[in-house]
Amino acid sequence: MALKVKCPTCGRECEYSEKNPFRPFCCERCKLIDLGAWAEGSYVIKSKNQEADDDLDISEEALATGKLHSKVKPENEM
Ligand SMILES: [Zn+2]
Repeated sequence: MALKVKCPTCGRECEYSEKNPFRPFCCERCKLIDLGAWAEGSYVIKSKNQEADDDLDISEEALATGKLHSKVKPENEM
């Protein structure tokens, strides 16, 4: 007799045995989804670090604006 458990991802009943390599998940997809949730959690932390990069982007934009002004100047000189 096979022990049946509910898949933590989709809630579907699946066989909890050596026959099912994805136990306690019902299939590989549900296992990957659960792992993906973990990966998403670390991604959120990563994007938080990227906020500091956004600040750098703003200063880069300011530099670009300064470049635009210096580009205008030679035109005025001509
Ligand atoms: Zn499932």
